[in-house]
Amino acid sequence: MNDVKLIFERSCEGKGLGLLPALDVPEAALPDGFGRKTAPRLPELSETEISRHYKTLVKRTYGVNDGFYPLGSCTMKYNPRINEEMAALPQFTQIHPLQPERTAQGCLEVLWRAEQLLCEITGMDNMTFQPAAGAHGEFTGILLVKAYHKSRGDEKRTKIIVPDSAHGTNPATAAMAGFTVVSIPSGEDGCVDLEKLRAAAGEDTAGLMLTNPNTLGLFEKDILEITKIVHDAGGLVYYDGANLNAVMGVARPGDMGFDVVHLNLHKTFSTPHGGGGPGSGPVGCKAFLTPFLPSPRVIKNEDGSFRFERDLPQSAGAVKEFYGNFLVDVRALAYILTLGKEGIPEAAKNAVLAANYLMKKLSEHYDMASGRCMHEFVITLERLKKEKGVSAMDVAKALLDHGIHPPTMYFPLIVHEALMVEPTETEPKETLDEVAGVFASIWEEAQKNPAALHEMPLHTPVRRLDEVGAARNPKIRYEFE
Ligand SMILES: *Cc1c(COP(=O)(O)O)cnc(C)c1O
Repeated sequence: MNDVKLIFERSCEGKGLGLLPALDVPEAALPDGFGRKTAPRLPELSETEISRHYKTLVKRTYGVNDGFYPLGSCTMKYNPRINEEMAALPQFTQIHPLQPERTAQGCLEVLWRAEQLLCEITGMDNMTFQPAAGAHGEFTGILLVKAYHKSRGDEKRTKIIVPDSAHGTNPATAAMAGFTVVSIPSGEDGCVDLEKLRAAAGEDTAGLMLTNPNTLGLFEKDILEITKIVHDAGGLVYYDGANLNAVMGVARPGDMGFDVVHLNLHKTFSTPHGGGGPGSGPVGCKAFLTPFLPSPRVIKNEDGSFRFERDLPQSAGAVKEFYGNFLVDVRALAYILTLGKEGIPEAAKNAVLAANYLMKKLSEHYDMASGRCMHEFVITLERLKKEKGVSAMDVAKALLDHGIHPPTMYFPLIVHEALMVEPTETEPKETLDEVAGVFASIWEEAQKNPAALHEMPLHTPVRRLDEVGAARNPKIRYEFE
């Protein structure tokens, strides 16, 4: 297939469309310092060419509406179109964040209702929608933990415990918030080792961050004991709820003893993600932490109207301008209201069922890192690598030739040659059966002709890329000559 030219490479001086009408108002100068020093080098193309350029790009992208997309820990599920329509309503898109509250009551109500419903789902008392992503939510949540200990003058608590089966953002968050990270190894069964946790928890423990289900796709079986051990030591417990898809409507972090939780609305609650679009990582907390939430908060007045509360003297501080990525919250609210009390747990159960069904089918050939799973499972290709020299990377590349987006690779770090598969509840059984067939055929190819797998993919616009080079030395802007 031909290389796609960049829009700048297609540009041809003088072709630019003069779409701006003649000036018919008095000319006004920009205040000093606001104007740019050089003219922008905008690409100049005809409308036909622009349209074709973007269509070419569209054909090269891959999304859940192209095919199977089992990217573990990412919940790439189908997002119902109705929620997009809700988020596109002009009443939600044509507002300004500095508009007077009384003229944006509907928007405030969306935030308030979304807070009520997500608190109900998580077992929390209050929530902020300011954080723009999961990791951003973690950071916000850990700032609450920090502010809480500080408010009590308990400043010796400088450590956050993070099991080694946590998502990588957990230790990063704790470090970013100024804590020392104490990593504890998992037990044989892939769950938190309680003895190791008891040994780690103490007077210097600010809290524990727990990813549940953990990155092996397992629900922490001793979760009540885990939260108790940390509480007994005087620490708080943080629930990384990015993967709530497996438990929503079935079990609530608040009931398990957690004090703070973040959710990824762009995973579980119907916002498409993966292309760097806006996300939302709301943080819920128990009432004793509410005073530390970012400002502003949405409050319902006695007369039923809504207002922003900005006078929050103990707030740990704002983490983003205004109210977060509001339209993501609109989608989440629409999603929850359409699924309702029955639909939410049903979605979670079907996500778990789909994962276990596919895991069972694949385990005819492939080794699994653990037994029965929640919403995702981890394959280990250690044996295939040893016996045939075929790695997780080779299998992932082979999947591309079958039009399947590869699973998450080489994660979690505690599993060698890992492929982490998350099918989600929106995949029909027929697709799961087809996918199992593809995995089986790749396995057979690896037995018969392992060398062929190093050559794949053969049928994609580009073959194997210098992935390390791309990550280390990203070219993200066009270099004009
Ligand atoms: C995806 C994920 C995160 C990070 O979310 P981002 O929106 O990518 O920042 C954190 N924890 C877990 C368990 C996740 O799966």
